[in-house]
Amino acid sequence: MPTLRAELLFTPDCPHADRAETLLRHVLATEGVTAPIERVPIDDLDHAAGLGFHGSPTIRLDGIDVAPGSDDSIALACRRYAQPDGTIDGVPPEAAIRDALHARLAARAPRPGPMARAREVPGHVMRAGFVWASQRDSLEHLTKRLPLTRGLVRRFIAGEDLPSVLTSLTRLHEAGFATTVDVLGESVTSEADASAASDRYIELLSALVERGLDANVSLKLTQMGLDIDPAACRRTVGRVVDRAVASGAFVRVDMEDHTRTEATLAIARELFQRHGNVGVVIQSYLRRSAADVEALIADGMRVRLCKGAYNEPASVAFSSKAEVDDSYVRLTERLLRDGTYPAIATHDERIIAHTRAFAAREGIGPERFEFQMLYGIRRDLQEGLIAAGYRVRVYVPFGREWYPYFMRRLAERPANVLFIIRNLVREGRR
Ligand SMILES: Cc1cc2nc3c(=O)[nH]c(=O)nc-3n(C[C@H](O)[C@H](O)[C@H](O)COP(=O)(O)OP(=O)(O)OC[C@H]3O[C@@H](n4cnc5c(N)ncnc54)[C@H](O)[C@@H]3O)c2cc1C
Repeated sequence: MPTLRAELLFTPDCPHADRAETLLRHVLATEGVTAPIERVPIDDLDHAAGLGFHGSPTIRLDGIDVAPGSDDSIALACRRYAQPDGTIDGVPPEAAIRDALHARLAARAPRPGPMARAREVPGHVMRAGFVWASQRDSLEHLTKRLPLTRGLVRRFIAGEDLPSVLTSLTRLHEAGFATTVDVLGESVTSEADASAASDRYIELLSALVERGLDANVSLKLTQMGLDIDPAACRRTVGRVVDRAVASGAFVRVDMEDHTRTEATLAIARELFQRHGNVGVVIQSYLRRSAADVEALIADGMRVRLCKGAYNEPASVAFSSKAEVDDSYVRLTERLLRDGTYPAIATHDERIIAHTRAFAAREGIGPERFEFQMLYGIRRDLQEGLIAAGYRVRVYVPFGREWYPYFMRRLAERPANVLFIIRNLVREGRR
């Protein structure tokens, strides 16, 4: 079983942080649990919001607050904890920590293996930090200026303009891959920007058709103005879908964080019912996804299944890798059996092996589904699957708005972060 994640989140001036740590250490020791305590200083509201921090000190076990309160506000203030004897103190009651520890130990899956540990090494906090950073404009300006990120950016992004992505696409097609192209950009704040984004997709579709390349694109609804006006967004994305229909192209609507799930499914479904050439994405980390998959199977709509890339609260999403993976495997089996040409979008070797074995066992031929992977990630696996006779579609992002996408890729893997740190150290030495 992976080591329990014990975190102490605190503001630097918190008078109770050390006492909370001592108390937590005492509870862990007396319960016979060996777990390092990770100290996470929080010094600004943005960081607090990114981590769902409600006051100092906060103790979390496996990412779950040991004393969740009714107050959900984000604050850098001291927290006040009601004690069993009716008094108020600056640290959680020992019994609450102990109860939370018992609950966490009971809830933990008994056996995630080394793959699970690999994902959990950076921990919820680090992942949350990168996803939080992906939404910060100030960090975007800084990151884009750092020369050290260039190499890593080039690995994940197929270029900043249309000609360079067309070159990458041609190379991928020659190697036997299908592709879907993402014009990077999300969360636009004006209808003019949303309309400009749809123009870029229309221009892209024309270029793909003209060159005989795979006419398949992926887009995000916040890029088409979902957060400004859902009705206008529907019309804006409708223009792209109309252009796609005219040339027999396919449009995949990417899935963003859980606050957009309902609206994204509704708009994608409406477009699918009208035009047929639209698919959607389901994230296995969301608790609602089993029900969504059933509805999409009934509709006959194409689903891309992924694990999910955003930082979601435990109320809506599974928080352990074991649960996310179990959900992924269950949903893959459902989609392979009864779905319409599902896309199994993962780089997880264990899940890919399971998918292959399950399909073979059930007599589901490789023409009835496809694997999908991200540009620049696990090229060895991508090529291996092509060589084994499977269809593989590479998700190819391009454009100047690469920052949020890039940060989510960093969040997914400790080695990417180590790469950045190594380069930072090297830069510092120059
Ligand atoms: C085609 C495609 C489309 C996607 N669309 C969406 C979407 O619409 N919405 C959404 O929320 N998410 C989307 N995702 C992202 C997805 O949710 C995951 O965050 C991402 O794919 C990592 O999960 P994994 O399934 O590869 O499994 P993990 O368990 O995270 O990773 C398995 C292995 O893959 C490799 N790996 C994974 N990520 C990286 C990385 N960044 N760098 C280097 N190696 C890595 C590592 O070897 C790792 O051990 C998409 C993913 C793909 C492949």
